[in-house]
Amino acid sequence: MSSENTFVIVGAGLAGAKAAEILRAEGFAGRVHLVGAEAERPYERPPLSKDYLTGAADRESIYVHEAGWHDTHAIELYPGVRAERFDPTAHEVELDTGERVGYQKLLLTTGSSARRLPVPGAALDGVHYLRTAADSDRLRTALSGGSRQVVVVGAGWIGLEAAAAARHHGNAVTVVEPQPTPLHQVLGPEMGGVFARLHREHGVDLRLQTTIHEIRGMGGHVDSVVTDHGDELPADVVLIGVGAAPNTELADTAGLTTGNGIVVDAALRTSARDVYAAGDVAAAFHPRYGRHVRVEHWANALHGGPAAARSMLGQQVNYDRLPYFFTDQYDLGMEYTGLGSADATVICRGNPADGAFIAFWLTDGRVEAGMNVNTWDVTDAIQALIRSTKPVDTDLLTDPAVPLEDLL
Ligand SMILES: Cc1cc2nc3c(=O)[nH]c(=O)nc-3n(C[C@H](O)[C@H](O)[C@H](O)COP(=O)(O)OP(=O)(O)OC[C@H]3O[C@@H](n4cnc5c(N)ncnc54)[C@H](O)[C@@H]3O)c2cc1C
Repeated sequence: MSSENTFVIVGAGLAGAKAAEILRAEGFAGRVHLVGAEAERPYERPPLSKDYLTGAADRESIYVHEAGWHDTHAIELYPGVRAERFDPTAHEVELDTGERVGYQKLLLTTGSSARRLPVPGAALDGVHYLRTAADSDRLRTALSGGSRQVVVVGAGWIGLEAAAAARHHGNAVTVVEPQPTPLHQVLGPEMGGVFARLHREHGVDLRLQTTIHEIRGMGGHVDSVVTDHGDELPADVVLIGVGAAPNTELADTAGLTTGNGIVVDAALRTSARDVYAAGDVAAAFHPRYGRHVRVEHWANALHGGPAAARSMLGQQVNYDRLPYFFTDQYDLGMEYTGLGSADATVICRGNPADGAFIAFWLTDGRVEAGMNVNTWDVTDAIQALIRSTKPVDTDLLTDPAVPLEDLL
């Protein structure tokens, strides 16, 4: 197949889907192949641990584009097809169907996969991971009806959201986490404590500074989880949420520079000519931070895919969006933007105990990150404060009566 005027996107998640959309929106008239290992057309993952898992959102609502969109935009979608390898010299991708597709430009949006937990019993029935719509379907079936003993391993975003969904379905939930608070590495002890209180108030048995040694089962199905404290927690359902690892295999075998992800510059170009990467899999040079940053969040896929598409079209791209993510757990909605360092000072506008507040991470008096909880329409102002790099008056910053814009 001639590669002239042919762009291939490997990975039909949000980043890949949005890249395809932007190629057409920007007037690219060549062929666009969108190769996706999952049988589904591209969908968004955040609902999989939230509304879709509770049953409040239906299947149709998770898709990036409506049915038929790929045909009407002449995007050649390959659902259920894996790219096995590519040759950066020959400019050719080999699919697991045996087909070889030549490319002029190639975009890798292969995302990430749930990290596996290397403990005995992790392969028993009833032990779940949560990355795909199929995983969410299986977990929802296991949770719905309630009255089950659910053990969640890992108090990160997915573990906590799934714990909230499990409670929503009326199950008894225990969360086991090695760190002293949930989300300790991202939010630090104080803000991690907000999530600890939230889950305990909703009836979760939260076991901190606890790891699991073994998952036990009878007849091939899980029935308990053993912790390093010697406790044996009864379990009908176990969800393991211990993070995600970037899917770099294709890039690795092709000899591209990888580290924690596929290394790309601020224009999302990899070390191989005409090959780009975006979304969860990309460790992109961030002009603001002066280093490569890999962001495993929805907004980075939403904006990174389009940025890569523009770069493939030869436009000037300097991808410098600040990291941003959100979560919904019970009645708490939260957005976080920026990158707070571990030794930053955390101060709040409003009282966390009241349920609505903004936390700021400051270093040398400058705002590095902000987290707004049940407080809305402040992300732009927080990002402007971060970008301004000016020291702020902390009395004004913590005074809810002072508009954030006044601090700029
Ligand atoms: C349950 C869940 C909840 C989340 N909730 C939030 C949230 O609340 N807020 C937030 O900011 N972020 C959230 N995220 C993170 C967000 O969904 C991801 O950052 C986003 O999905 C990344 O998109 P992506 O397109 O880069 O990669 P992915 O979504 O991982 O898509 C990559 C696709 O590429 C495919 N693929 C991989 N290798 C190949 C290959 N060789 N050939 C063909 N196809 C391949 C994969 O099968 C996959 O379909 C959540 C993630 C999960 C799993």
